[in-house]
Amino acid sequence: MDYNSLLLRLGLDPSNFVNRVNEPIKTEHGFIYEVDQIKDKVPCKKCSSPEVYIKGYFTAEINCSETNHITDILRVKKVRFKCRSCGQTFTPPLYGIEPYSKTSNQTLQLICKEFTAKITFSDIAKRYGLSVNRIIQIFDEKIKVVPRRNLPEVLCVDEIRFQTDADSKYVCILYDFHRREIVDIIISRQMPYLREYFSKINVFERNKVKIAISDMYDGYSTAIHTYFPGATHIVDMFHVIRLLTTAINVVRVRTMNLLTRKDSPEYNFMKKNWKLFLCRYSKVPDRFYTYQKTGEMFHYDYLLKRCIQLDQSLWSAHNTLQDLMNYQDRYTFDEALKFLQRISSNLIQCSSPIIQEVGRSYHKWRVEIANAFSKTQNNIRYHNGVAENINNHIKSITKAAYGYRNFERFRKRSMLILTYSKANKKET
Ligand SMILES: [Zn+2]
Repeated sequence: MDYNSLLLRLGLDPSNFVNRVNEPIKTEHGFIYEVDQIKDKVPCKKCSSPEVYIKGYFTAEINCSETNHITDILRVKKVRFKCRSCGQTFTPPLYGIEPYSKTSNQTLQLICKEFTAKITFSDIAKRYGLSVNRIIQIFDEKIKVVPRRNLPEVLCVDEIRFQTDADSKYVCILYDFHRREIVDIIISRQMPYLREYFSKINVFERNKVKIAISDMYDGYSTAIHTYFPGATHIVDMFHVIRLLTTAINVVRVRTMNLLTRKDSPEYNFMKKNWKLFLCRYSKVPDRFYTYQKTGEMFHYDYLLKRCIQLDQSLWSAHNTLQDLMNYQDRYTFDEALKFLQRISSNLIQCSSPIIQEVGRSYHKWRVEIANAFSKTQNNIRYHNGVAENINNHIKSITKAAYGYRNFERFRKRSMLILTYSKANKKET
């Protein structure tokens, strides 16, 4: 076993050690190499006197890695000197290992590279034969600052659930629509936090934002109007439609439960085919539904309509949903606004309070929704699909890893994985 080349591969200086011929000890994850630190006298580190003597020896184990996946342990018999002049005891440093560190610098570097990969802290811990807490400690020590990106021309604002120390269950995530990456994560989506965050960004940078996309959360509207007065605010259509489908679902269940006959084809159909009440008519299957009890057959289309007509609110809301989903971005802003005024007043006239509520929201957000509908100069349809997609990644990060109750840690790791990793760049 050539210790010199081994030590070099582990990022250590062979001249710090005595070349001792013995076989490495095989372990589950790699090898244990037993080495001795050289005993050549060095001047006292306190008073520089050359009058030192060996006081004793002690053994230290240091995690070393040649490449990732291989975890070796260097068991070093270290030497302790004592100074005759001042009485100081000391141990000469080893190149490649910080004093008191249990991990070699090379291993620390390899670990730091892993922080940009889509793997959990516990996976990294396993890979290097260290504890999860140690990996988190290295993360906190080595990754001090992860800067935000510059504000983009098209900014998506969204949130995910995350329990932080701040008085909020939601953190706010800013995305770059075109680059498909996280710009930054704000500790809370509540107004005081948004105000503090955006007011610190200078006005020239803020003015570069031309389009801001968000859901129908009041705080976003206020923040966007205050800090991005020149930007067009667009409400994401996914959220607009979801507001109505959620309400339709509630009305469907209520209508179903109000049926006097629980063994009717309508009841069974409504219970089993909830998805058909929330999709486009064109997606309703062109076939027959068999009512098991009697063997009667009904066309899906016919039975769906019969169920919807059981309740006026359900009927009206369902028609509105069809209008919304079929509304293409071929209209001018004014046409889109008229369309929204029509559908919101239709919904408000319904008897169901939950449907009325959707109508009122649509009315309140009519300008932002009309912006989403109307054709833009460059023909791009702006939506928060980017955000929703990255959010799923973030959720998998929070789900899979420990130690994310700390917001800063969570923010830094998410940014490293989803914005700063090279692998992520290649995908886009
Ligand atoms: Zn001394």
